[in-house]
Amino acid sequence: MNIDHPNVLEVEDLGVSFDGFKAVDGFNFYLAQNHVHVIIGPNGAGKTTVLDLICGKTLATAGSIKFKGKELRGSREYRIVRAGIGRKFQNPSIYENLTVFENLELSHPTGRGVIGCLMFRRTASIKQQCEDVAAQIGLSDRLDTEAGILSHGQKQWLEIGMLLMQDPEIIMLDEPVAGMSVRERTQTATLIRKISKDRSVIVIEHDMEFVREIADRVTVMHLGKILAEGSMEKVSNDPKVIEVYIGH
Ligand code: ADP
Ligand code: MG
Repeated sequence: MNIDHPNVLEVEDLGVSFDGFKAVDGFNFYLAQNHVHVIIGPNGAGKTTVLDLICGKTLATAGSIKFKGKELRGSREYRIVRAGIGRKFQNPSIYENLTVFENLELSHPTGRGVIGCLMFRRTASIKQQCEDVAAQIGLSDRLDTEAGILSHGQKQWLEIGMLLMQDPEIIMLDEPVAGMSVRERTQTATLIRKISKDRSVIVIEHDMEFVREIADRVTVMHLGKILAEGSMEKVSNDPKVIEVYIGH
């Protein structure tokens, strides 16, 4: 932990235009260590685009993205991942015909093609890490199960586990509970709270009940801009926010 930067991520005046259309405009975002910071807002508000900008999938046309004080804007996607920012997309991208264990193993930064005696010790520690991560995501008894036959919720957790294998300092989750049962949502809330003990988490979410359960801080977006920011208590009582949500 770097005490000089209590905010692990500082995004200032961030913007991107697509053919003149400002999808994100003047966006400021400060992510504190070990916080779960949720971004909410109506469809098309620019939430996913913000994650695309932070992870380098889309290049910003304005502003800065500082990770522990270092400028990330303009860095390539793989460098941003390597620096310690992991991102889960809306649709799970797991290997359906591999087991849970194999999916986790493959996600380890040095997990690819780890074979042979020389690598034995490393292999053992990766195996241990896979088991630890599986325990965290509630899939300890599914290690040998083919990922394709997991429930929708379990697939989402596996993908979160695949991110955890890289031990990132920031995890970004785009609508992680979409399509989940109520029970799975509760379990996901617990998982996200647990994950944030060791890192910071950015979550995009629609379900207000869920946001209330997990959020340390909430940023409300509308038409590419910030509409409100603060505790869930504060933003959910903000007349501007209420209007946008009732208006949609
Ligand atoms: P949200 O996730 O809040 O629903 P998005 O970030 O996906 O919203 O989209 C915000 C707006 O930006 C939408 O109008 C969308 O059509 C537009 N947009 C997003 N990505 C692109 C792109 N690569 N090219 C053009 N328009 C885009
Ligand atoms: Mg989106």
